[in-house]
Amino acid sequence: MLEGISKADIESLLRHRRWLEPVPGALRAHHAAQREREFARLVLVWWPALLMAFAGFISFTWWNYHAAFTPHDAWVFWLTELVCFGLCMLGLRWGFRPSGQAHFERWVLSLFGCILAARLGSSLLMHHEALAVNAVHMALLVCVVGSLGLHLGLRAATWGCALGCLALVVLPWAVRPQDALLVTGHYLLTVVVCLFVAAIRQDKDRMAFYQSVLLELERQEVQRLNEALADQARRDSLTGLANRRAFDEALAREWDRARRTQATVALLMIDVDHFKAYNDHLGHPAGDACLARLAGALASVVRRPADLVARYGGEEFVMLLPDTDEPGARAMAARMLQAVDDLTMPHPASNVAAHVTVSIGVAVCRPDGHLARRTLLDQADAALYEAKRGGRHRVHLGASPCGLLRVV
Ligand code: GH3
Ligand code: MG
Ligand code: MG
Repeated sequence: MLEGISKADIESLLRHRRWLEPVPGALRAHHAAQREREFARLVLVWWPALLMAFAGFISFTWWNYHAAFTPHDAWVFWLTELVCFGLCMLGLRWGFRPSGQAHFERWVLSLFGCILAARLGSSLLMHHEALAVNAVHMALLVCVVGSLGLHLGLRAATWGCALGCLALVVLPWAVRPQDALLVTGHYLLTVVVCLFVAAIRQDKDRMAFYQSVLLELERQEVQRLNEALADQARRDSLTGLANRRAFDEALAREWDRARRTQATVALLMIDVDHFKAYNDHLGHPAGDACLARLAGALASVVRRPADLVARYGGEEFVMLLPDTDEPGARAMAARMLQAVDDLTMPHPASNVAAHVTVSIGVAVCRPDGHLARRTLLDQADAALYEAKRGGRHRVHLGASPCGLLRVV
């Protein structure tokens, strides 16, 4: 949503606050979208106020002037209110539509223009002078409340004022020159106030927008950092595999899931053969490089997304295989052994083979309510011990099915 915009850009815009500077191109679409949302919110929250204001205008005029109404003036008055009410309803209808909310500044101004023209026309048609002035006042009120209440920008306000010039300045001079000076004066005064407030409001809106973008960028950065930290806390830095903590969490999760679904869980414990001798002969850095390569080979064996290979500690790795039975676990262990053999990393101090090898202990369990997940680990460890005892470079499957080892 905020691609191509950096925090530094926004901070610089906020620092070098330039009066009436346009929003930069990269932010313009985002700004327009925010203004549309704001407009939609305004319409949703304030539409009853619009109707109340309308009723207020009518009541005010009727209360103060109805004694002076001639039948002609009353007719003009009600017709004008009817037209203006219809235009307001049309505006609300568009204001509630997403297609109307987009580019609202364009049609809102035309709508205001029509309301202004209707009110001005009525003032020119009325015989009673006070009524005519009242109609002009109402028209100007519509202008001020509309442009300021709807957060119209300076450009839109200028355009609206220019349009209004046609109706509010030219028409009276042409039709009723005796009132034209008064109307023009009122109008120009309103225009100055409108443009000035629109400029201040636009500047404030722009700054508030920059602040909101900055806040959003900072929120995204904090989220990214949190995710990176969470990832680091679960990753082993030497091998890039999941670490012991991530494995413990995954085992707890999968154990509970298997208990609910009555599925089996398999655990492979993998230990490098004669690794101390490897270090002693080739040095610790070579040992580290060897572990990293082994990790890559072990990770390449897993296929399912739920399978997890982790570094358990030192030169020991574990592989957690949810929903895997005995033959499946045995097959995975054989593939692991093969993947390490395929690396053919020379091991000058091993009496098992000329290259680096691993031993693997396998345990398979169907967890039930009485069984602790520690049992699975213990059994895989015991199986690994048997693999070592049997001569290393081999797979050993736990003798007793884990599901029968109940802990009381
Ligand atoms: P076995 O075949 O019985 O497993 O013998 P082993 O030598 O592999 O086992 P032992 O537990 O005696 O030694 C493990 C060695 O692994 C000791 C330690 O120096 C080495 N080791 C553990 N962690 C690291 C590591 O992060 N980097 C390196 N280079 N070596 C490590
Ligand atoms: Mg070991
Ligand atoms: Mg070892």
